[in-house]
Amino acid sequence: MRHGMRDAGHGTWDVERDYAMTDMGRREVLRWGLAAGAAAPALGVLELFAQEAGRTRSEVDPKFYKQLPERRTQCFVCPLKCVLSPGQTCFCRTRNNVDGKLLSFAYNNPCILTLDPIEKLPLSHFLPGTRTLSLAAGGCNLRCQYCQNWEQSQTKPEELRTFDVDKHRAVAGAKKKECATIAYTYTEPVAFYEYMRDLSAFAKEKGLRNVCATALFIEPKPLRQICPNIDAFAVALKAFDEKFYDRVLGSQLKPVLDALVVLKEEKVWTEVVTLIVPTYNDDLDKIREQVRWHRKYLGAQTPLHFGRFVPQYKLRDLPQTPAETLERCRDIGLQEGLKHVYIFNVSPHKGNNTYCPNCKSAVIERLGFRVLETRMNAGACLACKTKLPGVWK
Ligand code: SF4
Repeated sequence: MRHGMRDAGHGTWDVERDYAMTDMGRREVLRWGLAAGAAAPALGVLELFAQEAGRTRSEVDPKFYKQLPERRTQCFVCPLKCVLSPGQTCFCRTRNNVDGKLLSFAYNNPCILTLDPIEKLPLSHFLPGTRTLSLAAGGCNLRCQYCQNWEQSQTKPEELRTFDVDKHRAVAGAKKKECATIAYTYTEPVAFYEYMRDLSAFAKEKGLRNVCATALFIEPKPLRQICPNIDAFAVALKAFDEKFYDRVLGSQLKPVLDALVVLKEEKVWTEVVTLIVPTYNDDLDKIREQVRWHRKYLGAQTPLHFGRFVPQYKLRDLPQTPAETLERCRDIGLQEGLKHVYIFNVSPHKGNNTYCPNCKSAVIERLGFRVLETRMNAGACLACKTKLPGVWK
């Protein structure tokens, strides 16, 4: 058994129990990531899928990689642009140079499969109260020191216990469980881009929608290619600080900001989430800078969520984020003119609710991820008829 393996060990999917578990890390709750050697828990959704490793390998889209002399390859899916010799594995651990071809080992090969409320992505203005089939494959193109799913994100797909889930099985499973969407989440969907690309296109054809929770460290071309099939993005903008991206995430901020602007241009519904890590990215001047950038480039109507950090992985010696810190961040967002600023991972909290920007009444009341009451009609406030931005049906 791998160190850190987890097993929720529950018998069936329990909506009430799941929704009640709100005060935990976004990627921590309600998941049954299966590491090598783990016994598969008998969960409703997992029973739909073959409990064996997916063996499909998919070639990376030739538009997004190049064959170089001596059978080397260069990938252009994300800004790292890995150059690999035959036999080498890339930084995100999912793509391998096999005899001069770049192949994805994450294809049809998820290690996490679970049912979630859509609010968990987090998405608060996209089909609220609906259920999604969440899936993830091992691997990631970041190295966040506080990753909430590091057992999966920092492991190659072929070293995890996985499921063989092609697009037909995934769509049939989502429909059987009455999901409105398929969510690409938990690890980093950029690392399993080829799987997401093909599954999202097929799901769309079959009447399901697709949502993606991502750090958005991706090149503009592959991002634009997938936009027509992804109906909503929940983007983790991890800080507004290049040094933080470099030192804590092993990544870069600028390409993420550029990619957010691409989503705006492509008109895909987007919500942004920032997990506030005590002493690391809780500087309120930086938060104000981030909020001003958000308003200028994404618009005042694009929701922003400030989330509680829960000690994980290499940052276990820090406390979880105090609620007061998140409240100060939220106040800054509202002072700077953002219309929808949320508090995530703290519940109960008034920052879980959606408010009408005109009359200020709570149009969606939530307890964490659970919708308690909706006072909207066709996307408009029942009290004053103001239309709210989002996708409501
Ligand atoms: S997506 Fe993966 S293989 Fe491609 S450049 Fe980024 S880290 Fe390298």
